[in-house]
Amino acid sequence: MLETLRRIVHEVNTAPSLSKALSLIVEGVKQSVGCDVCSVYLTDFEARNHVLMATVGLRQEAVGKVSLPQGRGLVGLVAERAEPINIDDAPLHPRYLHITETGETQYHGFLGVPIIQNRKVLGVLVVRQEEPRKFSDDEVTFIFTLAAQLAGAITHAKASGQLDTLTSDQPQRTERYLNGIASSSGVGIGTGVVTYQMSDLDAVPDRTIQDTKAESEKFTAAVRAVEDDLRQLQERLSDQLPDEDRALFDALLMMLGSDTLVTHTINLIEQGSWAPGALRQSIQEHAQIFEAMEDIYLRERASDVRDLGRRILMHLQSDSPQKVEFHEGTILIGEEVSAIQLAEVPAEYLTGIVSAKGSSSSHVAILARAMNIPCVMGVTDLPVSRMEARELIIDGYRGRVYISPTPTVRVEYERLAAEERALTEEANELIGLPAESTDGVKLPLYLNTGLVNEITQAGADEAEGIGLYRTEFPFMIRDRFPGEAVQITNYRRVLEAFAPRIVTLRTLDVGGDKPLPYFPVEEQNPFLGWRGVRISLDHPEIFLTQIRAMLRAAVGLDNLQIMLPMVTDVNEVDLLTLMIHQAHNELLEEGYEVTMPVIGIMVEVPSAVYMIEELSRRVDFISVGTNDLTQYLLAVDRNNPRVAETYDELHPCVIRALKHITEGANKYALPVSICGELAGNPLATVLMMGLGVDSLSMSSGSLLKVKWVVRSFSTAKAKRILTACLRMEDARQVRRHLEQAIEEVGLGGLIRPGR
Ligand code: PEP
Ligand code: MG
Repeated sequence: MLETLRRIVHEVNTAPSLSKALSLIVEGVKQSVGCDVCSVYLTDFEARNHVLMATVGLRQEAVGKVSLPQGRGLVGLVAERAEPINIDDAPLHPRYLHITETGETQYHGFLGVPIIQNRKVLGVLVVRQEEPRKFSDDEVTFIFTLAAQLAGAITHAKASGQLDTLTSDQPQRTERYLNGIASSSGVGIGTGVVTYQMSDLDAVPDRTIQDTKAESEKFTAAVRAVEDDLRQLQERLSDQLPDEDRALFDALLMMLGSDTLVTHTINLIEQGSWAPGALRQSIQEHAQIFEAMEDIYLRERASDVRDLGRRILMHLQSDSPQKVEFHEGTILIGEEVSAIQLAEVPAEYLTGIVSAKGSSSSHVAILARAMNIPCVMGVTDLPVSRMEARELIIDGYRGRVYISPTPTVRVEYERLAAEERALTEEANELIGLPAESTDGVKLPLYLNTGLVNEITQAGADEAEGIGLYRTEFPFMIRDRFPGEAVQITNYRRVLEAFAPRIVTLRTLDVGGDKPLPYFPVEEQNPFLGWRGVRISLDHPEIFLTQIRAMLRAAVGLDNLQIMLPMVTDVNEVDLLTLMIHQAHNELLEEGYEVTMPVIGIMVEVPSAVYMIEELSRRVDFISVGTNDLTQYLLAVDRNNPRVAETYDELHPCVIRALKHITEGANKYALPVSICGELAGNPLATVLMMGLGVDSLSMSSGSLLKVKWVVRSFSTAKAKRILTACLRMEDARQVRRHLEQAIEEVGLGGLIRPGR
């Protein structure tokens, strides 16, 4: 049964449409369980009923027509209870409802399993037997697993509009949107452009072309090229491989020569698909045929088919490398949009970013905020390959993505976008004014930067300096560690641009979600593993090179602060400061006129919170990295969309930790800055004021909004709000309280309903 389950799950996952996925399920279940009927009912939340969407055993004409009202019948009961119901004699049950339109005779055995996604019952999978029958535990768990699988396919189908065409001929009644994680606020209205990794066949998006003849020729040429490659390989390996292994090449060549694969792809091209898209579809279908086979040897051939597909794709791409046409109103979409992919889009065209993977504290989201581009991350149900050229609206406040929105929604969002523009204009009036409370207490605002190889222009003049320069980028885009000279050029550029203002360079913080391609680290738990200063301590040569470069870059400017990330223990600070002194002394000996920089640490690990006094005695400043601190306090991966609801930087435990940190550091008169994303969240600004932090460091897009809040509250009021929040029990209460406070001073426009 496990084997059958694996097969059906795979087929369902790769099914080209929802109706296909549903029929695969009902047929698969009927066959494996040996029942008389298997049906799927999907919930229509608007009409408040469960619609029959697929069946084997009942009348086909009933599909899409017959529906059971919510709360009635056994199907309704399964949905209500959100758990399986297994009854040997259904007609005896008080909730039994006999439906005639489906051609039902009296079925006695009944098993209904809910199809659930994100705690919501999307439908019910039902099996029936004419005779009384209680289904076995194995059968229940089998159907259970399939139902869980189906939930993903249904959500996918809903997103791409398939479900509406299946359920009714009526115009759409409700708005379709997908939920993700609100990662950079704002409204983006535009058209989808899918970005994907070259040679990843499954990620190839659907695109249409006009010149089908030229496209077919391109495809045929790619097939010929793969044939040549294979023949050459076969030739080259002829002395080294036994006959039976060489036969593999014959099999591959035969597949290529066979009409089915090539002709099928050409057919799809002739219908208007571009060659990579047609190839993807054709390979998936062929691989599926093999995967469905019981014979293990034949099933393995599926991976050969996929391999062939990748080879052809590579040739297609090398002939005409993926040249994406970016246009005004580009909404960049991908399975996992990377910082590099984002940088490829001309900034003036980029209207929004949507990523199926990742979360609001992923680095691409941080970058989006720096660039002021609305962004929704972790849209797990996004059918990425179908999003090319689709009209989209993204709501970066609520984390929603609307696909082919209705005119009503469009109008509503256009209004919101206009309001936003007005707000930005109003905020621009604050340019040049100090960030100080109504009672005259200053809260200097600094800039976070360094994720791309440039200094963000907007906001650069507004900031008091740089509070966090992430030095990882030049390390991430090379094929080896950058040497001292390369690093000096890099750091000098930013130190010079901001002098005499302070620039805080953070030492290398790789590991976690920022691996270096040339320094592979295999770990079960990268966020709890070798990252930040832990790597610096184990590789003093990397650390010393970086420190030397920083000190040399600052010669004559003297605006350098060095910041150590991921500190867990006082000994780390002692050893690293010793190394900074060592580098300083050596450089003096070498004749460079370097000065000792100001040294600080990031507090982003719970142990550092509790050791704050001991740490404060050793350094010149403290900067709190709330992104990691939240992740470690709540034990929740900052990049995992599945637990994104639990990741909340406004959780009272984070605020309490901040209180502990500021009190500890105050005893040593040490300045405290906040440089995590919380610092740029206007909702949290009043808390920062109440805590009496000395500065905030944030993405440029947040500077004016935060300044606006600072200028709207008195310190006394901020303290009262903080005291109230410190007593609260969960993040929801805190958020509500802060929203109310901000609305009261007339700044509701700066925030939008989030969670
Ligand atoms: C943080 O963890 O809050 C932080 C500022 O550092 P990063 O996001 O680069 O980990
Ligand atoms: Mg961090």
